[in-house]
Amino acid sequence: MPLPADDTSLDALTIGKRIRQLRQSRGMTLEDLGTAIGRAASQVSVLENGKREPRLSDLQTVARALGATLDDLLSAEPPSRRAQLEIALERIQRGPLYSSLGLPPLPVRKSLSDEAIETVLGLHAELERLHRERAATPEEARRANTELRDQMRRQNNYFPELESTARGLLAAVGHTGGPLSQRLASELAAHLGFTLHYVTDLPASTRSVSDLRHKRIYLPVDKKGADPRGSLLRALAGHVLGAEEPNDYREFLLQRVETNYLAAALMVPEAGAVEFLAEAKANRELSVEDLRDAFAVTYETAAHRFTNLATHHLGIPLHFLKVHQSGTISKAYENDDAKFPHDVLGAVEGQVVCRFWSARQVFDIADRFSPYHQYTDKPNGTYWCTSSIQSTTQGDFSVSVGTPFAHVKWFRGRDTANRKNSGCPDPACCRQPPAPLASKWSEQSFPSPRLQSSLLAAVPVDTFTGVDHTEVYEFLETHAPAS
Ligand SMILES: [Zn+2]
Repeated sequence: MPLPADDTSLDALTIGKRIRQLRQSRGMTLEDLGTAIGRAASQVSVLENGKREPRLSDLQTVARALGATLDDLLSAEPPSRRAQLEIALERIQRGPLYSSLGLPPLPVRKSLSDEAIETVLGLHAELERLHRERAATPEEARRANTELRDQMRRQNNYFPELESTARGLLAAVGHTGGPLSQRLASELAAHLGFTLHYVTDLPASTRSVSDLRHKRIYLPVDKKGADPRGSLLRALAGHVLGAEEPNDYREFLLQRVETNYLAAALMVPEAGAVEFLAEAKANRELSVEDLRDAFAVTYETAAHRFTNLATHHLGIPLHFLKVHQSGTISKAYENDDAKFPHDVLGAVEGQVVCRFWSARQVFDIADRFSPYHQYTDKPNGTYWCTSSIQSTTQGDFSVSVGTPFAHVKWFRGRDTANRKNSGCPDPACCRQPPAPLASKWSEQSFPSPRLQSSLLAAVPVDTFTGVDHTEVYEFLETHAPAS
């Protein structure tokens, strides 16, 4: 077990241990040493227990009394493995975390086995890690997110009421099937009583702003690479669902899931999509790109809709992953036991996926326009995935849909020769550098880390939605029609 990094540094504890070891090896008692240096035995004990920072002059006297050199006492090397463990145990008991637990002190006695000390140190290290992790993201948000994903999994990511709401809205504007045109999307807004206003100064913390007083929806002008219908339909979906300012993270996250779901269900209506997918399945030609092209949506929207419909209507279990070029998960869903990396509270977002998964391999492929397919042998079975890259202002993301081997037969791209082996979560798979490289470079390199912007910006301070209300109200004032 690794000990804390500063454990070999020179400190009172280490020096004390060394004095005790030298004294005992000379067969001296505390009194003997005390007499030799002109101090009380109790003061020697204080010194040996590292309870006081020793002065150099004291150390010279002690070294002389022990027939040793100052170097013997000051050597940075801790005396022995056992002494190292005892020092670490002593040190954590003096730290703030241990004292916050209100436990009685654990005296370091000979009868205390090395294993027992190692276990205490291991538990302490894990507690420290949990504290650090919890400080990074509000626990409430992470729990809410995990619960929500469990709920989505239970209903196979299929929400019948939202499908029915989408059906009703589309019928109201006379949509008869196929892609939802920009014109029909605008008519849907009119049907709901809204006028649309495209602006260049939309507050940065928003995707759209609705003025309920004047029944206006403000939308950004031509956001690079984004489907212009997306923001509009999400704004309309929010109104249809009666979304109010959420009271907590759970409501906030559920609203976001439902709003995105309804917007996607408007762009890729259930009836037409299921007909399209059922035929593709019958021909063993299922493909997310075909769904994308048939309904003129982004790859991500097509993949999202595919996960809504494929299990409920086609009986195919699957997983969905959106992964940033850095390897971290930005969105994830599974009902096929794909075993995403997760933290102690079950949260998946922000975790790094295996280097050998399709979601990361696709970044190394030169051809960014064709879909990438791959078989991956994982500890719990073989999966097949199809991945595609989309570029955004926040960088490149891969969007992947995958299924267990038994269901690959329905998909186009099943004949791919790409095959990788993934041992994750075993750290030896891809988290630890290969041993020959590590032994060559670990002592001979110092990478200067780039601070990830999300590390400090992830959590909004005032409101958990991150919306800047001052900015929004000022924006509405500026744009409101003269009354
Ligand atoms: Zn791996």
